[in-house]
Amino acid sequence: MEVKKLYDFTYTLTKSYEEINDRQALIDGFIKAFSIFFPVKDLKIFLMDEYSYILKDFTKPWENNVNSLEHEKIKKHFDNFLIQKSQYEIEDNTLLFPLAKQHKTLGIVWLVSREKIEKSEDFFEILPLVKAQISMLTSTLKDREVIKINSKFHQTLRNIAQITQTQYELDYILPIMGEMIDRFISEHLIYIFLKNKNKKEYKLIWPNKCSDNKIYSYLEEINSKSKTILKQDNKLGIFPLTVDAKPFGAIVAYNPLSKITSKEIGYLEEITTQASATLSRAKSYVEVLKYATLDALTGYNNRHQFEKRLIETTSSAKRRNEPLCCIMSDIDFFKKVNDTYGHAVGDCVLKTVAKTIKKELRESDIASRYGGEEFIFLLPHTKLDEAIVVAHRLRACVEAKKINIEEFKIEGVKEISVTISIGVSEFDKGDKNPSSLYEKADSALYSAKESGRNKVVIYG
Ligand code: GH3
Ligand code: MG
Ligand code: MG
Repeated sequence: MEVKKLYDFTYTLTKSYEEINDRQALIDGFIKAFSIFFPVKDLKIFLMDEYSYILKDFTKPWENNVNSLEHEKIKKHFDNFLIQKSQYEIEDNTLLFPLAKQHKTLGIVWLVSREKIEKSEDFFEILPLVKAQISMLTSTLKDREVIKINSKFHQTLRNIAQITQTQYELDYILPIMGEMIDRFISEHLIYIFLKNKNKKEYKLIWPNKCSDNKIYSYLEEINSKSKTILKQDNKLGIFPLTVDAKPFGAIVAYNPLSKITSKEIGYLEEITTQASATLSRAKSYVEVLKYATLDALTGYNNRHQFEKRLIETTSSAKRRNEPLCCIMSDIDFFKKVNDTYGHAVGDCVLKTVAKTIKKELRESDIASRYGGEEFIFLLPHTKLDEAIVVAHRLRACVEAKKINIEEFKIEGVKEISVTISIGVSEFDKGDKNPSSLYEKADSALYSAKESGRNKVVIYG
């Protein structure tokens, strides 16, 4: 056979590998190489999933890779290769041969040519070499992916550990944690439950829906000695969260289609341990921070301090018969900022927005971080029409602000901007309950969100 053909084949294969960044690109490279020998119409690689014992299309999402008729046919060939009945099989235009690593059959290559394939072709002289190369390239790509997952995993752990630097209220921490875990373990549905105080019941905290009632009954099995609980043939895993060695809640991972692998169980167990540590810390922070006044990230008043200042300002407004207004703001689509650029960028955005707004306020205005990405401002001695002017100015200055995110080294993105929605309300001196001032602002804010965001809505 021509040495040149063999050289070209090997060269094309390795060349394609240097450039690949995903599985489909690798297959495309293989097609290019095989085209030196055959007019290739289609090429697929199926790998054996050790957990489900199903041959899975290498390029399709693993979890949706269910058995089909095509798989059934290919499985028969695979079984023949397993017992080493043949080195390859030809059916008219189709060629099949196994992939192996250290004598273990890993999967199968399925190649369809536009022409009938003959046993006499040059190609079969070098088939052992081709097999070795394809097996090596395919499994190296898989190993590379594992390394990538490992580094993503460590980043997730670090992020979970760091949440309490900027948040300590469970209402805010748990959704953030849920999002972080969900992004990492994307093949499974992730739920976070907390145990109701003094009761055995579990309450869903994240996301906002879980229609599978069986999960609730499984959760009742958790006791103080519980480790991971696996259910439904390992498709569902319950990872108990503990604080002070007592059950506090649980992270649940569920995939109706495939089992959770032992590797994933390992990841989830470590994540759960880290999450428990973060939650214990947050719990003690809440106690300590009752005595603190400022929010660590923004330098605004924290929520406890806000409640105090609300009582002071409303009673003073009443006593002196002075106007008082409230502005509540919330960053639009903030979740998307976290999802697109990461949590650290989200924090930077929060900080910058807080600083930008602060510059526009008067010394006597009281700025607080109500929680998450919601800020609340009390404007003493301010009438509603003045407060409306302020609100429009805040909205406009946030929209115009270019937030520099160069330090996060995100390719092609140096700055981003966000918008806020605002609700405004005026204190009604006849009102007995001080909290109705911000409840009204909150309801106006809700209307601003509902009616399109990046706008100011006045209550009433
Ligand atoms: P909407 O326009 O309706 O307000 O959309 P949104 O995405 O801003 O709303 P949502 O309330 O669903 O999401 C708020 C997100 O804010 C969820 C949470 O991850 C994030 N978040 C809350 N606190 C912090 C924080 O301290 N740092 C970061 N980076 N994100 C936070
Ligand atoms: Mg928001
Ligand atoms: Mg919000």
